[in-house]
Amino acid sequence: MRRKLAILILAASAIPGTMVWARRAGEPLKPGVNLFSKQQDMQLGQEAAQEVRQKYQVVQSQFLQDYIRRVGDRLAATPEARQSGFPFTFTMLNVAQVNAFALPGGPMFIFTGLIKSTDNEAQLAGVMAHEMSHVILRHGTHEATKAQGVQLLAGLAGAVAGNESMMGRLANLGLGLGANSFILHFSRQAESEADALGSHLMSEAGYNPIEMAHFFEKLAGTGSQGIQFFSDHPNPGNRERAIEDEIRGLPRREYGYETHDFARAKSEVAALPAPAAGDRGAISPVPGGVAPAGNWQQLDRPTYRVAYPGNWKAYGDSASPNLTIAPAGGLVSASNGTAQMVYGMMLGYYRPRGATNLGTATLDLVAHLHEQDATLQLASADQRDIRIDGSNGLIQTLQSRLPSGEPQTNALVTVDRPQGLFYAVCVAPQRTFQQFANTCQQMLNSVRFGQ
Ligand SMILES: [Zn+2]
Repeated sequence: MRRKLAILILAASAIPGTMVWARRAGEPLKPGVNLFSKQQDMQLGQEAAQEVRQKYQVVQSQFLQDYIRRVGDRLAATPEARQSGFPFTFTMLNVAQVNAFALPGGPMFIFTGLIKSTDNEAQLAGVMAHEMSHVILRHGTHEATKAQGVQLLAGLAGAVAGNESMMGRLANLGLGLGANSFILHFSRQAESEADALGSHLMSEAGYNPIEMAHFFEKLAGTGSQGIQFFSDHPNPGNRERAIEDEIRGLPRREYGYETHDFARAKSEVAALPAPAAGDRGAISPVPGGVAPAGNWQQLDRPTYRVAYPGNWKAYGDSASPNLTIAPAGGLVSASNGTAQMVYGMMLGYYRPRGATNLGTATLDLVAHLHEQDATLQLASADQRDIRIDGSNGLIQTLQSRLPSGEPQTNALVTVDRPQGLFYAVCVAPQRTFQQFANTCQQMLNSVRFGQ
């Protein structure tokens, strides 16, 4: 009990924004406040890595996977990486974006776009050392601790004893910690720490750490290419200068280590088939009008209310509980004259045909939806429990095809209510669904049931 209290106090003092300091070169690097254990970092990372392998295309080349592992193992063999005790793994994904990311506890993913844009192996090692430092300093779960605070305690305590997946358990508590939440939007403080520790790892591995700064500089100069990287890893300010300052405090070493396989890796990456449009390998940003903007507005319907982005529009009879909410361009007319939803959410009630519980009622609804759109089918058996405004519900993913043939993802949430089966379907093309999912999550979180 006492221990729990101490954690509560720690978490309360870690509210974002209350701690602002700039790191000085050479200062010690230590993980910040964290409600997760290192074991839990690893468990979460493993679970999220599985999600990543399903969503992206893993490069099918033994040479390339070996190559990235050799560079990674070299960094992982440095004292600061070994002391962390995390088991690092390295996987190359066929994605055009210039990016890489690492999940808590060690799994690291490198996009082919990154290999293409680096000039030498030290630059590649620089990005990998930066990512590895996020893992060692436990930034993913530290940021989650800051963002979610004490809410995490229930999920984490249960996860130790439970047989359920940790991500599932945290999601059930409405914490929505998908793979994305650990890799996107590190704080500037975390960034400057990862730059600094990354330069140590590089130096200890024999790579010239200045190449990390050179690569960031080069990427910043390319404009659009670096957008995703810098949105995940914001520039803490004077990035190159700070790295140079850090290097000055390091013992003098001979640099120039390399595997001598960088050129071959580059040419093998260039020869890979491009991830096809609509393929799992391509993750695109949502179009401009779809991204939420403006103040959210609230809408009352009989028996429930929901909030949605200011630049979206609600369609439907105000007396009916059935509602369609979509951004401009989210609805297109299909060849038979009916409106087809490309982006958006549909909500309402369904009266199941003789179903006895939430699970069978949901299956009945899926069958009903399939009658309306024959391309619609269950994507996997990954049905999970969820709570919406205190009521029990289920969430699962359905797959369909747009008239163009492009795969579409439908996240279906169903809730058992006195009025019948409440449902909300969130729809987006598969290649952009990840970017869209946050808005859906926020809309679902806003649902309040009335009488
Ligand atoms: Zn970073």
